[in-house]
Amino acid sequence: MNLINGLLSLFYPTQCGNCKRYIKDFKYLYVCPECFELIKKIKKPVCEICSKPIDSVYTNMCLECVQYEKKFKYVKQAGIYDGALKELIHLLKFYGKKRVAEVLFKFIIENIEFEYINWSDLIVPVPLSKKVLKQRGFNQTEIIGRKIADYAKKPFLNVIKKIKETQPQNKLSREERMKNLHGVFNTDVSFKNKKVLIIDDVYTTGATMNEMAEVLLKNGALEVRGLTVARSV
Ligand SMILES: [Zn+2]
Ligand SMILES: [Zn+2]
Repeated sequence: MNLINGLLSLFYPTQCGNCKRYIKDFKYLYVCPECFELIKKIKKPVCEICSKPIDSVYTNMCLECVQYEKKFKYVKQAGIYDGALKELIHLLKFYGKKRVAEVLFKFIIENIEFEYINWSDLIVPVPLSKKVLKQRGFNQTEIIGRKIADYAKKPFLNVIKKIKETQPQNKLSREERMKNLHGVFNTDVSFKNKKVLIIDDVYTTGATMNEMAEVLLKNGALEVRGLTVARSV
């Protein structure tokens, strides 16, 4: 969505953020139902650790998870970071369309089994740095995480701090991402013997999830799992 589209939508009916056709049915707010229906789900077979789609029947883990042991036990994602799902995440994150969080929350609970969420003793969101939080005004992951916690009647602990600024991860290599994120999260809170579910918006290499899990385990967590809205493949 560019500025012209943004201005036009003030005077004209809203265009779908994905296909640009005018929306007649606002069930999914800023994307049309046709595009929403086309959101790609995570189809099996997938890596049993990180849910990456795999095409081999000879293994149940992806190469990344075989090569690099993860601090979290599992991570699941509700859909593929593409099309209308990517657009909705952008609208929430970069255009401040906070109502989109409800659409994404519903998408998660429709595509992730309740047992996976209900396993946890408590839920924590991936934090933003102070600077980004100030610029954006809200943490999209916190909004979604809180809805999931309310839904599953779990305590929601927004107590992990991001203590360093990081470069955007998307243009970095695997090694650079790891380095970029190392030691960025911190907390004083004890998670002794707790089963913790981390919520994030997009899962890419797992560097963020891994760093979060490391901090939680260091603070006593029994086991850590992750859940994100989307996975970029
Ligand atoms: Zn559309
Ligand atoms: Zn994997």
